[in-house]
Amino acid sequence: MNKVSVTRLVSIVLTLVALVPASASAADAFVGPPAIIPGGDPASAQFIGPKLVAAFEILDTQVPPGERAQLEWHASSSLAGSEMASPVLVAHGERPGPVLCLVAGMHGDELNSVEIVRRVANAVDPSDFGGTLVAIPVVNLFGYLRNSRYLPDRRDLNRFFPGTPHGSIASRIAYGLFTGVIRHCDAVVDLHTGSFARRNLPQVRADLSRDAVGELARSFGATAVLHSRGARGMLRTAASEVDIPTVTFEVGGPGELEPGEIAHGEQALQTVLHKLGMTRHSPTWDESRPVFYESSWIRSDVSGLLLSHVALGDQVEAKQLLGVVIDPISNTERKLVSPAAGTIIGMARNQVVLPGFAVFHLGGETSEQHAVREARKGSPGVLDEDGRRLDEDSDARALDDELDGD
Ligand SMILES: [Zn+2]
Repeated sequence: MNKVSVTRLVSIVLTLVALVPASASAADAFVGPPAIIPGGDPASAQFIGPKLVAAFEILDTQVPPGERAQLEWHASSSLAGSEMASPVLVAHGERPGPVLCLVAGMHGDELNSVEIVRRVANAVDPSDFGGTLVAIPVVNLFGYLRNSRYLPDRRDLNRFFPGTPHGSIASRIAYGLFTGVIRHCDAVVDLHTGSFARRNLPQVRADLSRDAVGELARSFGATAVLHSRGARGMLRTAASEVDIPTVTFEVGGPGELEPGEIAHGEQALQTVLHKLGMTRHSPTWDESRPVFYESSWIRSDVSGLLLSHVALGDQVEAKQLLGVVIDPISNTERKLVSPAAGTIIGMARNQVVLPGFAVFHLGGETSEQHAVREARKGSPGVLDEDGRRLDEDSDARALDDELDGD
């Protein structure tokens, strides 16, 4: 399968749409005209092109057009328990289109991601679908079975891409996934949640300095988008570097299933499928546009028990009381107030905190143009409390001294 950039795919789709009597005005061009015109004639070649005749080949298997398959991916042949394979769900459409890959469970305790990808993959009807969906609901099967974000050696799989065939276990597993699956994709969405005791509002993290990545990032409907250049070794960094546009999609917190967050994630991915021209129908959103944010962390300066007064997604005013840190020893309370107006896009669960602990992630809405401009100027994007690049693991890195860094 040739690699086709998302940009080019969109232009192909737009060209095809132009062959059909136009139904979309410039005003709703932002949400994308339906790539497959609902009123069109499916038998017409102009509909979305002729039916495919070629099978999709992946993991030594040929999946015929219009069919789905559940394949197996073996993470490692040299790890105990490796006879267990991660399921790879493939739906190969009857019509041309991109190969979109959904990756979940990179961190084994990020359960929302697992359920979102399972639902989206099972909902696809390959007989009425353009392109190919490849979904891996549980990439890190070892972590999943132990309810841990890590591999058995405590390494973080999302620090080893694209991997090497002769390195550490983590590096070999990353290499196997990258060569066996990711290289077959035209675009990738890597799903995560906040790490340890933090939850994230559904949010796309993307290197907005890359055009194709930015285009993918704005396809998630009314979902928050944050610029983040990403760290070395992350799947999205490694894949984007070989021209496979990849974003991270963070949804909720680890260790539990959150129905509201899962529903948002599912709807966002169905919107992505539609924007890439793979499905006829897009879910409807109250607000159709993504919301771009610049963000900063609000920290506790004292140790104690955190008790929040706000919820994830709340709009807050400058100087608003966000929560208190209680010291039961001295019987005192320290207030946490917001330095500016914004939206709570991430927050810690109520827990014991230490001085410097990042408690609230405050997002200030900005324009897409501004976000892209800053990204192109070389801004690393979301920063953590030490001014380092924040990514889906830096919280964990700050909390876990044992974790190998980049
Ligand atoms: Zn993660």
